[in-house]
Amino acid sequence: MELIIQNLSKTYPNGVTALNDISLHIKQGMFGLLGPNGAGKSTLMRTIATLQDADGGSITLDGIDVLHEKQKVRERLGYLPQDFGLYPRISAEVMLDHIAQMKGVIHKSERKELVGTLLQKVNLFKDRKKALGTFSGGMRQRFGIAQALAGNPSLIIVDEPTAGLDPSERNRFYNLLSELGENTIVILSTHIVEDVSTLCSNMAIICKGEVLMQGKPSDGIAELQGQIFQKSIEKAALSEYKGNYNLIATQLKEGKLSLRIKSESDPGNGFVPVPANLEDVYFSYISQKVDPITL
Ligand code: ADP
Repeated sequence: MELIIQNLSKTYPNGVTALNDISLHIKQGMFGLLGPNGAGKSTLMRTIATLQDADGGSITLDGIDVLHEKQKVRERLGYLPQDFGLYPRISAEVMLDHIAQMKGVIHKSERKELVGTLLQKVNLFKDRKKALGTFSGGMRQRFGIAQALAGNPSLIIVDEPTAGLDPSERNRFYNLLSELGENTIVILSTHIVEDVSTLCSNMAIICKGEVLMQGKPSDGIAELQGQIFQKSIEKAALSEYKGNYNLIATQLKEGKLSLRIKSESDPGNGFVPVPANLEDVYFSYISQKVDPITL
């Protein structure tokens, strides 16, 4: 199972180039698409989900031409968009039954079984009679997964799934997602580094419509090992450091500014070496395109 994206481009009528010659090779398992807001993630997800056309390039899913054979893709696709409208007064069970019907499960008894299985899978069976409008953020997301799973998709796209979830809801959602990755392609689009480090075996970093990095999170981290240094400074001294070091992140801690820099040799001047993590990988790529202070 593989999704191959080649030289994909999209410029909106207002002149914004959201995708600039994107190429990605995505295999079975969880794939993290990481990038800041405005990077082009949703545009890419909507294009793969056949909801939007590209200006150029190609996408194939196991040989299916995604940009042209839309119906074939839709039959294999589960999509959980950033905000999906829920009918607030309809119960989870009724809504899911309706979705299963739209996805081609025509027999009522088959649907009943499918809906029950899906609701159990996302731990909403006991809430199946409740109106969707009464669901918490975490319940909504889990319902979103259930509807995306209807029809046994081989490709699942999840756009910014953990925004707005509290830590325990996020945890439950992580567990659910990681089960899915076993026999499908799951693309997880997010600006949250932790989502990718927790869940994904492969990833790409995109920014301003371009792929900056593609590979395994662990390889990205290994490449940076020994090159990350940290120092705590007074806030006012920042401008001095900004020009002299390759600054990849800053964090305000107890009134002082903690700087993380990337340097191939020991920078001295009070900087201490620290282990690299995925956030460093992310910011070291992103900082080539965007000032990390303004991120
Ligand atoms: P992300 O999901 O990474 O935040 P998007 O794909 O939503 O990124 O947006 C990429 C860029 O394209 C942004 O600059 C955004 O403002 C612009 N954009 C997105 N959708 C539209 C649209 N329908 N019309 C015009 N510009 C758009």
